[in-house]
Amino acid sequence: MYCRDINILTKEVIVISSVCNQVNPELCAGCGACMNICPNDALEMTCDQAGFLIPQEVAGRCIQCNLCVEICPAINRGLREVNQYAEAYGCFISDQAERQRSASGGAFVALAKAVINLGGIVYGASFDEDYHVKHIGVDKIDDLQLLQGSKYLQSEIGYSFRSVEKHLGNNRLVLFSGTPCQIAGLYGYLQDRSLLKNLITVDLICHGVPSERVFQDYLAWLQRKKHSRIKAFTFRSKKAGWNNFGCEAHFENEKRYFRMWWTDPFMIGFINNFYLRSSCYHCPYVGLPRWGDLTIGDFWGVDNEHFDRKGVSVILINSKQGRWLFENLTGVDLFKADLRQVVKHNFPLRQPAEINPKAAAFFELYRSKGFAAAQQKYLKFPALKFILFKIYWYSQFIFGERWYRRLKAKF
Ligand SMILES: Cc1cc2nc3c(=O)[nH]c(=O)nc-3n(C[C@H](O)[C@H](O)[C@H](O)COP(=O)(O)OP(=O)(O)OC[C@H]3O[C@@H](n4cnc5c(N)ncnc54)[C@H](O)[C@@H]3O)c2cc1C
Ligand code: SF4
Ligand code: SF4
Repeated sequence: MYCRDINILTKEVIVISSVCNQVNPELCAGCGACMNICPNDALEMTCDQAGFLIPQEVAGRCIQCNLCVEICPAINRGLREVNQYAEAYGCFISDQAERQRSASGGAFVALAKAVINLGGIVYGASFDEDYHVKHIGVDKIDDLQLLQGSKYLQSEIGYSFRSVEKHLGNNRLVLFSGTPCQIAGLYGYLQDRSLLKNLITVDLICHGVPSERVFQDYLAWLQRKKHSRIKAFTFRSKKAGWNNFGCEAHFENEKRYFRMWWTDPFMIGFINNFYLRSSCYHCPYVGLPRWGDLTIGDFWGVDNEHFDRKGVSVILINSKQGRWLFENLTGVDLFKADLRQVVKHNFPLRQPAEINPKAAAFFELYRSKGFAAAQQKYLKFPALKFILFKIYWYSQFIFGERWYRRLKAKF
């Protein structure tokens, strides 16, 4: 609800309200900065109809201080002087077990270990026991595995910005990793710029985040199919090679599920932009320069000399702080990469995702008949495309991986 006030100089009636009334819901990225900054805990993040977190006022608590509006990155662009340059490196961590747990080459865990070894704390996204994704802080090397691996959902920030601020205030080194909109939210939140000297941020090259609601229904659908509860799930199983990633689930009755992305309904819907958050289709954080001190991603388009089936990451160095941490990396193989090549093969470094023209029809059916019916109609490759993909997939065992990768790069 809007509140009214009067400007005593102009006598003009002005409208004061919390961010909930001021932000364009299509552009709100759900970063949680507004909830963190509110001095009276008047905002909470709730799930909207499509399954995305949005801020909501707690009745009667807003004191109209306007802080949430002032720091919201969807309302105020340019809260941070964006970084000036980017240098690109390819990276893979030498420890094979670490690399196996990582989505690509393990750039994140290498950076995180360097920070923990320097006495710092690392924030990132972790699954909870019900497969909701939440940001947590970790300062033990053994706990880093909670943050490893991509979770293709929006991570709930909770009050982690407040806890980052507390550590920075105590002069502790903090590494904060997340999607670029979360990094922008953190910089908006941290009003005391003197705190930034101990903060290093890592943003992800980001395709966009899919709906949490659709994901939970997909998990329920899988559990019904296998008549058992899931005990482990990954979006980036390397069973068929890191670049042919797929979803893998282990069930309590010891059954298993593994599908490469082009046969798994949730991944087909994610990659084909059926249910991304609406802000992702207008994402202002695509491209260069970046918001984080460092950027990490999959090194799609890596040259044959450095290609490795176990995964290769790309790291962009965007600032002096980023360079400092990069120089502290140990236990990794690094090689200089051509930034233009990296941009060419990774669309979120050029433009936002485009909504699938059938997204509205998918949601209509999903709402009326549920996930099983909607996936049956919309989240399957047409028969011909499926057969072509299959032929293409098996061709690598006949003509070799180089041929396969060369063909892939053409599409
Ligand atoms: C939603 C999403 C979309 C992505 N889109 C692309 C893309 O289009 N192109 C590309 O090259 N790379 C993309 N990535 C990044 C990619 O999946 C890998 O994270 C990257 O290659 C780094 O891998 P790694 O081996 O270094 O580390 P990993 O161990 O896989 O990295 C883990 C890091 O990812 C963070 N993370 C994981 N899930 C989330 C989440 N839900 N929200 C916020 N942070 C999260 C963790 O906090 C940690 O910092 C995306 C990641 C996510 C989460
Ligand atoms: S973009 Fe972030 S700060 Fe702005 S309203 Fe949405 S959740 Fe709040
Ligand atoms: S695409 Fe943009 S708005 Fe969407 S999650 Fe990624 S950074 Fe945030």
